[in-house]
Amino acid sequence: MKKVLLLILCLTGYYTSPAQLMQERERYTKADTLRGSDNENRDWWDVLKYDIMVKPDYEQKTIEGTCTIGFNVLKEGETMQIDLQDSLMIDKVELFEHLKTKGYRRTQIHFIKNDGVYLLTLPSKLENPSVEIKYHGKPREAVNPPWDGGWVWTKDSLGNPWMSVASQGLGASCWFPCKDIQSDEPDSGIRLSIIPPDSLKAIANGREYFSYEKYGGGLKKWKVKNPINSYDIIPYIGKYANFNDTYKGEGGKLDLSYWVLTYNLEKAKKQFTQVKPTLQCFEYWFGKYPFYEDSYKLVEAPYLGMENQSNVAYGNKYINGYHGTDLSATGWGLKWDFIIVHESAHEWWGNSITSKDIADMWIHESFANYAETLYTEWLFGKEAGNEYCVGTRKRILNDKPIIGPYGVNKEGSGDMYYKGGNMIHNIRHILNNDSLFRKILRGLNTTFYHQTVTTKQIEDYINKQSNIDFQKVFDQYLRTTQIPKLQFTLNKDKQTVTLNWTNCIAGFDMPISIPSTSKRLTVTAEEQTFTLTEEELNWFTAKNLLNNYYMEILDIRY
Ligand SMILES: [Zn+2]
Repeated sequence: MKKVLLLILCLTGYYTSPAQLMQERERYTKADTLRGSDNENRDWWDVLKYDIMVKPDYEQKTIEGTCTIGFNVLKEGETMQIDLQDSLMIDKVELFEHLKTKGYRRTQIHFIKNDGVYLLTLPSKLENPSVEIKYHGKPREAVNPPWDGGWVWTKDSLGNPWMSVASQGLGASCWFPCKDIQSDEPDSGIRLSIIPPDSLKAIANGREYFSYEKYGGGLKKWKVKNPINSYDIIPYIGKYANFNDTYKGEGGKLDLSYWVLTYNLEKAKKQFTQVKPTLQCFEYWFGKYPFYEDSYKLVEAPYLGMENQSNVAYGNKYINGYHGTDLSATGWGLKWDFIIVHESAHEWWGNSITSKDIADMWIHESFANYAETLYTEWLFGKEAGNEYCVGTRKRILNDKPIIGPYGVNKEGSGDMYYKGGNMIHNIRHILNNDSLFRKILRGLNTTFYHQTVTTKQIEDYINKQSNIDFQKVFDQYLRTTQIPKLQFTLNKDKQTVTLNWTNCIAGFDMPISIPSTSKRLTVTAEEQTFTLTEEELNWFTAKNLLNNYYMEILDIRY
């Protein structure tokens, strides 16, 4: 019986043999698995808080610091995995326990380095524990931030030292010791203290709560109250000027704070007027800005941009578009500042709702990409939004699936941007009901507010709320590189259309909705003939179909 089943699975291509699985795994190292999985040295403790202190030495390109990790014990465990990348080293680890009866207990902790990670041996019974880790070294220097990241040691155009970090993909462990996996965020937020070189300003996530100019050149302390992705925790150090504003939004008064290089102050005051309409659009579609307590900030960065939570990196040179270019090649992308729009959208998609595994980064990028379409539509109408979305299709590669391999710290295809955004566009047009579409986007943001999630949770939510089973649509667009092709014949009787999908996964059943009459045709791989009204038949053109759906049209046989 088992043999028959195996044969059927092999013939239908659904079965991956143990040898194939081994091959898959062999492509990744032990270090990849240790970084990318919630293994036994990580799953027994839950990060509550990071309290980081860092002092950079600009001349030597070195840093020294302390990271105190407060945590909850979830189950029995003694070995704690701490990630800190190779060019840095841990000098000392101490355990602090806040005892219920008699104050604090301080214990020196033994640690070793193995397969690129530090393993700390802790006592088996712990009371309100935190580990204080002292470290130092020469952090990896960024090669081409933010894509090839690390610590950025540069100068502004007046020759003043300018520093920051870009750590998405590379991981926060490139500059401080932490549990470097997205599934565990510090539930009570972070504190980041920076000792900048003389006369420079230091900015970080959230709000400044302490400043002591005389100490070591000017100690600055910042804190974040909300959970935060570790790759979002970023210091900026430079000759900065500050200006502030407020925005009246769904959560009340939101503080807007802008930090820019002193000589860019006037340009910034003009360009950053785009922030308020952006927030207005996103609160309409996605719900309340997720970090009112920590404020909204744009900070000029020595790289193009990054969604650093309540601390967005801005490096778009105060010009519209993506570094002055339009990713959609339609002209619409030059009407607004790509970095303000895209990175701000990540406050909802990525920072509030975070994927547990970076294989599921489409949850961040596909929705942030679609936010660009929604913003174009917000400013210039639905047709403009549609054109922008369709225009970005030229950038889709279909090189590999959008969802990457799980458990090995690997992302999927860069198609998570444009193709993922276009998949959301398809779903919107299948629903053919913008108030429901909006309800789903807002519902995702309340249901998974400040949480880490899996793709399945997002898929299940959309399926349930829409009352449409989109599973095959998700499978096709997120898990394969095939673009579904619609084959259609407008029949001679001029009243019917015959439709079927090809180049698709088994059971693919993406419906086609006709906007004006809301008729929804469930198309499958089998040819089916649908009777349409004259108005519906008139709508049924390749142009209209391609405006609303990312797909190919195989053949129009009149
Ligand atoms: Zn992004």
